[in-house]
Amino acid sequence: MNISERSTTHAAGTPLLLASLRAYLNALQESGLDGIPVSMAGALSAGAAEAAPPAASAAEAELGPESRQPETLEKIRQELGNCQRCGLAKSRKNLVFGAGNPRARLVFVGEGPGADEDLKGEPFVGEVGQVLNRIIAAMELKREDVYLCSVVKCCLPGNRDPETDETAACSPFLQRQIRSIQPEVIVALGSFTADTLLGTREPVAKLRGKFRDYHGIPLMATHHPSLLLRRQKEGNLESFWEVWDDMTQVLRLLKLPVPEKSRKK
Ligand code: SF4
Repeated sequence: MNISERSTTHAAGTPLLLASLRAYLNALQESGLDGIPVSMAGALSAGAAEAAPPAASAAEAELGPESRQPETLEKIRQELGNCQRCGLAKSRKNLVFGAGNPRARLVFVGEGPGADEDLKGEPFVGEVGQVLNRIIAAMELKREDVYLCSVVKCCLPGNRDPETDETAACSPFLQRQIRSIQPEVIVALGSFTADTLLGTREPVAKLRGKFRDYHGIPLMATHHPSLLLRRQKEGNLESFWEVWDDMTQVLRLLKLPVPEKSRKK
């Protein structure tokens, strides 16, 4: 399976669904998840319940199951419109919704746009974006293969973390983006993003290295490219290797080739 191929086993009936679930759990185990805690099992079933399609209306029943598709990214973007739902609207130049493949198997999520992204209206551009581009290229993928987005969509002054009210106003749109894309893996960049998606208050140093669960989707937390940039300027490449270790787990879970990398400087 390559990065652009999506699994369709969910449509093939219960035995295949169970086989698929077993394979998925095996893959999670191979990738370092050493068990499913009770809370996560609850989250899995909660996610399944949330993801379950609503009962078909009479019109949908007439049109068939194809009519019950997840909402499109375009529809979510339209609904955001010229959003004024939080104070970040006042200083933004451009709302940065997200970019990439709307059917991506892999989604990268950051906390919010910085000044470069605000100017261009595109996620992960400028110096920090170039670091992420290097990570994606090292995975032998292209930006167009994956989807890039963030918890809040408007520029964070001074690259600060979003405030609680800003996250509350904007994160439902991120949740809808993820539900629309239905990725097989999410990479959460930095502690703020990981904590927002997982509902924890753990530093990324504690969360990274193992898959976590986001409504049934494996989530890998890893260092934010801005931290990598800072460490690189200090001549410290250890965080890069930690991110690479996390990305090799992501590639394995996606059943994609893992390129050999040497730690020689
Ligand atoms: S950050 Fe999100 S909620 Fe706040 S104004 Fe921008 S788009 Fe709207």
